[in-house]
Amino acid sequence: MSLTVEQTCIIIGASHGGVSAAFALRKEGWQGSILLIDSDPCLPYHRPPLSKAYLTSSDNVQPQIIKPEASYEKNNITLKLGVLVTNFDKENQVVSLNNGEALNYDKLIIATGARPFIPPITGIEQAKNLFALRTQADVEQIREAVTHSKHKRVVIIGGGYIGLETAASIKKLGGEVTVLERESRLLARVTSPEMSDYFKQLHISNGVTIETNQNVKSIQNIDGTQVVCCENEQTFTADIIIVGVGIRVNQELAQQAGLTVENGITVNEQCQTSNENIFAIGDCAYHHNKHYDRWLRLESVQNAVDQAKISAAVICGKDVSYDALPWFWSDQFDVKLQMVGLATGYDDVIIRKEVEEASKFSVWYFKGAELLAVDAINHAKAYVLGTKLIKNKTVINKTQLANEELPLSIDNLT
Ligand SMILES: Cc1cc2nc3c(=O)[nH]c(=O)nc-3n(C[C@H](O)[C@H](O)[C@H](O)COP(=O)(O)OP(=O)(O)OC[C@H]3O[C@@H](n4cnc5c(N)ncnc54)[C@H](O)[C@@H]3O)c2cc1C
Repeated sequence: MSLTVEQTCIIIGASHGGVSAAFALRKEGWQGSILLIDSDPCLPYHRPPLSKAYLTSSDNVQPQIIKPEASYEKNNITLKLGVLVTNFDKENQVVSLNNGEALNYDKLIIATGARPFIPPITGIEQAKNLFALRTQADVEQIREAVTHSKHKRVVIIGGGYIGLETAASIKKLGGEVTVLERESRLLARVTSPEMSDYFKQLHISNGVTIETNQNVKSIQNIDGTQVVCCENEQTFTADIIIVGVGIRVNQELAQQAGLTVENGITVNEQCQTSNENIFAIGDCAYHHNKHYDRWLRLESVQNAVDQAKISAAVICGKDVSYDALPWFWSDQFDVKLQMVGLATGYDDVIIRKEVEEASKFSVWYFKGAELLAVDAINHAKAYVLGTKLIKNKTVINKTQLANEELPLSIDNLT
């Protein structure tokens, strides 16, 4: 299709995916209008710092915005914030908003991401000072609650990345933090037992209480004290409760409109849904990863930005397809974790500690001879090297990798 000024692209969701798509459209030569809509009233901001630096910052520190306000104007991108898209009609190409507006589109990008999952725990609806952590407003409320709490006893339900990052940040704010994890180890869904142990020790040594095999069954008010009760009858007093047990994909709009939806909104390599004028990107997109030949949904900034660029280029007539390696990072206390690849299905692990610097180590996951993924702790070199080797499907010398006397280098590994 030829690009004209009369055309309109509507983007639902103005976060990492939506904002990147809007700017990428301009870069690719989209001439028409761009409407970027989000129910969150705040100028689009980075989410990763929410559980990290923003949570521990003082009240007057502003969140890290994705683009300055003036950039939207300069690029002729119309931001509609604080309005919810209630539905869209793919036959008539109309998006309806909760303020009564109905807007026509030529192309639609769904970047609706995900929302926290609130588990059906008895008493959760009556609980006091209970929060999830997904938005700027959530963090501001948590910070305020911790600051003003007398005893600052914080129970975090869920020992995944968000739960652990929040635990580290609240510890810095002076909280007495307990993490309750249902599985037998932390991060069970996303990493190896070796990494789980590492993070458990890191948190314990920083004064966080870690309780695994704790399935929360109710939240009760006993004589004015709020208590989190687990299936094994153990109880934990909580002035503040934070729920970090995963997300639910915001896929209902797509589902109601009749698009194909599986574990997220199904898209092809061009990020196109089952309707050729509608694209889905970021946390809400269920896509095929070429490198691992697997269908998946990723929750990472990099994936949202990569898919945004692909969808914008395709809309502007470019012949491109999505082909990226997943990567992710997490900061807890003074530790930086960088992960590349997908470790699922690994049958061999090599753990490497660097002789010259005790704080650096890396975990290398293999399936047979194939390197699947690398987790690097305070070790940017291992992460960069791992990325290169995974991308090129290089077969590496495992014996040399395991030999900590040899410096980590491409020459020593190949
Ligand atoms: C606390 C926290 C820490 C994180 N840390 C990291 C990290 O260290 N590294 C990393 O790579 N990733 C991290 N992530 C994940 C990362 O932030 C997400 O993968 C990324 O935000 C996905 O971007 P997205 O645009 O797809 O969706 P989202 O960021 O979820 O944005 C979707 C937007 O759509 C809007 N929306 C939804 N439905 C509607 C509707 N009907 N009408 C209007 N607007 C709507 C929402 O308000 C929201 O703003 C973290 C996430 C959180 C919450």
